[in-house]
Amino acid sequence: MAKVAIIGASVAGLTAAVKLKQLGLDVTIFEKKRSVGGLFSKIDTPFGLCELGMHVLYVTNEQHKLLADIFGKENFIEQKGVNTDIGGCFNRTLFVDSIYPDLRGNSSLHVIMQDLLDSEKRIENVSNCLSELHQRFGQTGADVISPILEKLWKFPVENLTPESIHCYFDLRRLVVADKTRSDEMKKDPRLNELVANPLQLQPAGEVFNGRKALFFSSRSMIITEDVAKSISGLGINLVLNSDIKLFNSSLYNGSELIKDNFDACIIASPLNTLQQDLADALDNVELSIFYFKVDRSHCRPIDDYYIVCHDPHLHSTRIVNYSAYNFEKLKHLNDIIAVEVIHPVHHKPDSAIISNELMLVISGMTVIDSYELPLSLKVPIPSLTNARLLDLEVSAIRKNFEDKPLFFAGMRTDKGVFFSHHTIGAAYDAALECASKLS
Ligand SMILES: Cc1cc2nc3c(=O)[nH]c(=O)nc-3n(C[C@H](O)[C@H](O)[C@H](O)COP(=O)(O)OP(=O)(O)OC[C@H]3O[C@@H](n4cnc5c(N)ncnc54)[C@H](O)[C@@H]3O)c2cc1C
Repeated sequence: MAKVAIIGASVAGLTAAVKLKQLGLDVTIFEKKRSVGGLFSKIDTPFGLCELGMHVLYVTNEQHKLLADIFGKENFIEQKGVNTDIGGCFNRTLFVDSIYPDLRGNSSLHVIMQDLLDSEKRIENVSNCLSELHQRFGQTGADVISPILEKLWKFPVENLTPESIHCYFDLRRLVVADKTRSDEMKKDPRLNELVANPLQLQPAGEVFNGRKALFFSSRSMIITEDVAKSISGLGINLVLNSDIKLFNSSLYNGSELIKDNFDACIIASPLNTLQQDLADALDNVELSIFYFKVDRSHCRPIDDYYIVCHDPHLHSTRIVNYSAYNFEKLKHLNDIIAVEVIHPVHHKPDSAIISNELMLVISGMTVIDSYELPLSLKVPIPSLTNARLLDLEVSAIRKNFEDKPLFFAGMRTDKGVFFSHHTIGAAYDAALECASKLS
């Protein structure tokens, strides 16, 4: 039986493993940590367990079944349609009072969107993010979106890749007007084409309608051991505490070359997690997360799962409102808000600054207590330089893996591969292609 190695027991890596097993292959997952799930983890804050960031899994029915085999069907809460993704945004001219942002400062943008929908789609080769914005949204659209991306990545937009527009928040946060107008526009299937990442095709289907979103239930906070057991029960080898290294562009498990022991490999983890030198050579920002216990008694209810902060004066990047997607009505989650901040490396802002920003964005809310995630995560900027470095590394790894099937399914901001549906889709597709190459 052909043997496949999967690096990283992220949700994407696990999905690929179950699919490969179903297709009759011998599968081993190597996971650096002592538990599975990758970034989909829970943080034990002084205010109770909270998600690390916010995670919604957009999946196909088939992927839902695979995930149910691993995590248990009862551990997911399912949402459909517009309820899959409810966000708002904040900048100087627009505030959090619509489910989708009201671009009051640029009230013509929805008209431009409509014009774009009605016009012939232009297909040209573009070399950077700025030209991609011009091509898709014209001058006004580019003028609106460029400062938002520059605030997010701390980098000039002309030095970002065209695909960078699909990371961290997607264009749905930008394209619409008030809720009524936005719901109307979202019925137009052409909008999907305009805003979707090519990889949005995974899962196949429309962006706004008919998608299925899975949220982990609170029980899933304590199921790590159950998951490891169910993976073993499915006949998959799970090797925890196993740090796979890239050395001279070859993949090693300890002193053994992966290619000597396996017929194929799926890398379901970002490349920068496999080699420190590569991670250090990239243009990086850091992501810090602040948790706040809040008093909401003097603020109106907010429906948004999250609020993206586009205002360049704010350090905050995204405010995660656990109470809006607290489908199980857990009491402690109503009082907690997380703020994610992308900042230059080693320049984490003070918690008091972020707390004040939170009270500015959500007026009437008072912060009672705060907790900072002790570690900041390094995130590669989707820069043109990073794209070149990572492409070179991918070619070298492929060459050293000789002609055996090798797939890269981890997060790559420069390629617009960021959200869980991108990585799950990429790993699932890799599993299908891998099985067909080995058959
Ligand atoms: C703050 C934040 C907010 C986010 N919000 C959203 C959101 O709202 N919606 C959404 O869909 N996505 C969101 N994402 C993205 C989402 O978390 C990722 O798409 C998803 O986790 C998959 O990422 P990944 O492929 O990089 O795998 P990861 O989740 O990073 O998993 C990689 C796995 O590989 C393991 N690993 C790493 N190095 C090695 C090694 N050398 N050897 C063996 N194993 C290794 C890791 O321990 C980990 O288990 C967010 C991410 C962040 C950081």
